[in-house]
Amino acid sequence: MAELKAKLIIIGSGPAGYTAGIYAARAGSEPILISGYTIGGQLTMTANVENFPGFFEPISGSDLMEKMRKQALNFGVQMIDDRVTEVDLSARPFVLSTENGNCCKAESLIIATGASAKWLNIETEKQYIGRGISTCATCDGFFYKNMPVAIVGGGNSAAEEALYLTNFASKVYVIHRRDQLRADSILQERLFKNPKIEIVWNSVVEEFIGGKTISGVKLKNVLTDERKMLDVSGVFLAIGHTPNTALFKKYINLDDDGYILTKPKSTATNVEGVFACGDVQDNTYRQAVVAVGSGAMAAMEAQKYLSKMG
Ligand code: NAP
Repeated sequence: MAELKAKLIIIGSGPAGYTAGIYAARAGSEPILISGYTIGGQLTMTANVENFPGFFEPISGSDLMEKMRKQALNFGVQMIDDRVTEVDLSARPFVLSTENGNCCKAESLIIATGASAKWLNIETEKQYIGRGISTCATCDGFFYKNMPVAIVGGGNSAAEEALYLTNFASKVYVIHRRDQLRADSILQERLFKNPKIEIVWNSVVEEFIGGKTISGVKLKNVLTDERKMLDVSGVFLAIGHTPNTALFKKYINLDDDGYILTKPKSTATNVEGVFACGDVQDNTYRQAVVAVGSGAMAAMEAQKYLSKMG
């Protein structure tokens, strides 16, 4: 068990957290960054990133995050691969406890904890998590070589993951609850053109079927109430995310969906000295480039705050 003291602690190792680290270290705030479980954050689960400026050829999410981590380390960010389990933001210095028994005290704090994948929360779901149900095609797609699979969702994640899965699976069903996709039109075009992909419109999963692992799903058509079975060996959920704010809700103001509320044109929260950046405070854009921008803002605002406090 260690007791650590820092001018600035950053929680989270996604694009927002690493960028905050790079900016804060260069500005002399000597930040400690506590990475959380998923080092590199959600983007490590993305196969190809094509829209991050500067990378004119697709780069894998893991590679992009590895580069950001190295850049942060080069500037002297102190990385702690641990998870924050408790915070006390009632007085300064703020106190953080971690899973490995560290106690960290910080004059200022940047929250960059991101968001986590949502589940369908139907009765038969839990028993098949890791046995046919996954929230990460990049992580688990490889296991479904020449097998039929389904993706649930109609957003950019569902579209990208469906396309990615066609590299392995024999067939990819996209199960969507409406008659229109939310995904960007460029991705929609690619989906419609791909012969391995079939979109099952106006449908929701009612039940997961199988023995030890999944062998199919029972679908309900939301317009006709008609039920049908789809034989698939794997189901990938891509139905959005929940912000990781449970640790902070006692102190920090959140919106109705649980995202951290920040002041207009700022990353400042309602607690002086606590800033939030990236997906944890962004219910609208949720893009890596936007997270990067807000990470830089948070570091600059934290630096200004630390200078003011002397
Ligand atoms: P999203 O845009 O919120 O889409 C979630 C999808 O899941 C929607 O189609 C939604 O249906 C459906 N859904 C939600 N709850 C459901 C439920 N209980 N049952 C069935 N379907 C359900 O989430 P996302 O695709 O993860 O994307 C999140 C953000 O990241 C977006 O801003 C997206 O643009 C961005 N993103 C960008 C890229 C990229 O640019 N390369 C890649 C991935 C993600 P409805 O459409 O009916 O609401």
